[in-house]
Amino acid sequence: MNNFQYYNPVRIVFGEGQIEQLSDLVPTDARVLITYGGGSAQRTGTLDEVKTALAASGNRTVFEFGGIEANPEFTTLLKAADMVNEHNIDFLLAVGGGSVIDGSKFVALVSSLTEEDGTVSRDQAWDALTGYCKNIDSAVDLGAVLTIPATGSEMNSGGVINYSERQAKLPFGNPLAFPKFSILDPIKTLTLPERQVMNGVADAFVHVMEQYLTYPVNAKVQDAFAESLLKILIDEGLVVKQDPENLETRKNIMWTATMALNGLIGTGVPQDWTTHMVGHELTSLHAIDHARTLTIVLPSVMRELKESKKEKLLQYARNVWNITDTDLDDDAIIETAIVYTENFFRELGLPVSLEDVDLTESAIDPIIKQLEVHNMVKLGEHGTNDLEVSRRILQRAVTSKASS
Ligand code: NAP
Ligand code: FE
Repeated sequence: MNNFQYYNPVRIVFGEGQIEQLSDLVPTDARVLITYGGGSAQRTGTLDEVKTALAASGNRTVFEFGGIEANPEFTTLLKAADMVNEHNIDFLLAVGGGSVIDGSKFVALVSSLTEEDGTVSRDQAWDALTGYCKNIDSAVDLGAVLTIPATGSEMNSGGVINYSERQAKLPFGNPLAFPKFSILDPIKTLTLPERQVMNGVADAFVHVMEQYLTYPVNAKVQDAFAESLLKILIDEGLVVKQDPENLETRKNIMWTATMALNGLIGTGVPQDWTTHMVGHELTSLHAIDHARTLTIVLPSVMRELKESKKEKLLQYARNVWNITDTDLDDDAIIETAIVYTENFFRELGLPVSLEDVDLTESAIDPIIKQLEVHNMVKLGEHGTNDLEVSRRILQRAVTSKASS
């Protein structure tokens, strides 16, 4: 196992009806900006519940900023950051999924980057984003009410921001962006459309894979946790598809998705993230849901990099899919595990090839160009996945070997 520091200051408040805890969690004299997405928080009544809880104690002044897009847009977020300054906001409360939480983290980090006229500087904010937001040393406090289990953003300090004008979807990370708390009420997930539930299961699954499927460093705790999270997502993903009202399943999916990307299984181990970085380009060029880009790219990453990932692929086949057939050679074991993975995604209704989302080989060149523009030229646990490797991954992804 490699050396590591583990730091995660996020208070998780989990369970039915826990939104009322906001009256204790948000400072009583705060000037709060509630941020939310395209309308689900209003439609489902969550926004009203949040406002009622904030009004239940203290003397808070509450403002609202709605309309943060799925794949949160840079320009929208700058408007929210201006609102922070205009109203002297000292607490951001994100109500939504990864997009709203990521977007609110970005707002928290960039709202101090102002021009002389007091508005947030687009250039400084862009420079901050392209620099991973590493050099920002102050941020507005942030809390979250999670409404979709998927990204782990509720318990980590990272995010991903989309800037359509520049065809860029870029990640950032800064410890100041850790939420002070996140409320996880599994009841809130019952209003999700099936597509979003399945997206969430797949995103969490791929988060685990990015941190697990590299090369062994004898990290037994991380490996065992990772394998458990994968098995739970496979089991509960299939249950929730058949029985969407099953609250116990919703609870398990919600906590699994949080655990998948709160830093724990990624400590002291190499990490990959090729699938995410290639997937981000697919979202920014073709507006494909984040998770769906991942289920398209991951099987081809596994195939293309099967030599360097061989030991972990065999471990994955054995421990996650119980492939123990002694008649199979290593290659056949690995291919079986990859096909099982594709079939699992298919069972959730997710695409596993470019063809599945009506793209052809002609989509590859523009993706490679964008990877170059965004300097995604040394990806993977060894930093050796250059543009040629990414091209071969995408070529493998044009059609799929999985049963449809
Ligand atoms: P999302 O984009 O936040 O939300 C997806 C959709 O679900 C939205 O249309 C939203 O509608 C709807 N929705 C949310 N909660 C709902 C509910 N309870 N009932 C009904 N509809 C609901 O989804 P996400 O998968 O959580 O986030 C994806 C983003 O996170 C991507 O940009 C991805 O790149 C990023 N990401 C971040 C991390 C990280 O560590 N920070 C990791 C991986 C991915 P409304 O807009 O109307 O609310
Ligand atoms: Fe993700």
